[in-house]
Amino acid sequence: MNKPYISVVIPVYNESNNLKPLFSRLTTTLDKLNKPYELIFTNDGSKDNSSEILESLYKLRPEQVRVIDFSRNFGQHMAVMAGFELSKGEIVVTLDADLQNPPEEIPKLIALAEKGHDLVSGVRLRERKDNWFRRNISILINKVRALITNIDMTDHGCMLRAYHRDIINLMIAHTEASIFIPALARSYAANPAEIKVDHDARFDGSSKYSLYGLVRLNFDLMTGYSLVPLQIFTLIGFCISFLSITFVVLLFIRRLIIGPEVEGVFTLFAILFFLMGVLLMGLGIMGEYIGRIYKEVQHRPRFAIKKVLGAKLDEKNTNSWR
Ligand code: UDP
Ligand code: MG
Repeated sequence: MNKPYISVVIPVYNESNNLKPLFSRLTTTLDKLNKPYELIFTNDGSKDNSSEILESLYKLRPEQVRVIDFSRNFGQHMAVMAGFELSKGEIVVTLDADLQNPPEEIPKLIALAEKGHDLVSGVRLRERKDNWFRRNISILINKVRALITNIDMTDHGCMLRAYHRDIINLMIAHTEASIFIPALARSYAANPAEIKVDHDARFDGSSKYSLYGLVRLNFDLMTGYSLVPLQIFTLIGFCISFLSITFVVLLFIRRLIIGPEVEGVFTLFAILFFLMGVLLMGLGIMGEYIGRIYKEVQHRPRFAIKKVLGAKLDEKNTNSWR
């Protein structure tokens, strides 16, 4: 096989009805570019028949399709990471399997990457085809992320992106247990570019992220790329200590002038409960960081591969493929 110039990496989790239309739109678009390419699908422990469909796609174009089959669900970002480790292209493109990112947009990204941008990030149009809740949560999280991390990008949730080989090599050298690929890529990019891309409704099925899954993912993003949550907490602690000492001084003066106070017991409780809430939140934030450290020191493999089609397991291009 010609060494691929473009690698397209696609994470798949229960997407059986989307895979065939995705494949046909991808091949139609990429064939027109007249450049050698490969399609790498990572089946992230799907419970439907995505695995069989991927195998049939592999049989259609064994020269171009590679399929990594995870032994269980390890999450979207790990699925993409495994694809990166196997990829050989000079330009690597990621997109979702649900056709929310139109494959027809890929040539635009590649054109920008060829102009020398090492990371080309898609920015979903304002009229995103997600529900109201997801759209607004995503806008909010993008704002919070911009405030507390120094990752400068407009839409970290869009996976339609193109990466230069150098950035991919830096990313696969990472052995972190939790990763958020757009943020990691941005931290290495020297000459990033953004481009508006179309966004469709899911072709079939529903989002694979539960509310809890989304919260976990975003905690990974915030605690993985910033210490600001901890620092904010320390600042809140300082402010509260300062207010409390002022309060004690005031009460002391009042006791000297007017005498001891008796009312306001419930107010005191309210203040106490509030402070307990703040304390628990702080413990939780600390826990998030400690949890990350815990995962790192365990040194467990980040994912386990059951089977690979179109490549041999030892044909890995880094020794971190484990
Ligand atoms: N995905 C995955 N593993 C998971 C969850 C999602 O590989 O545990 C894949 C999924 O098949 C899709 C992409 O990641 O290709 C984005 O998932 P989804 O469309 O559910 O996310 P959303 O668009 O709702 O953010
Ligand atoms: Mg989606």
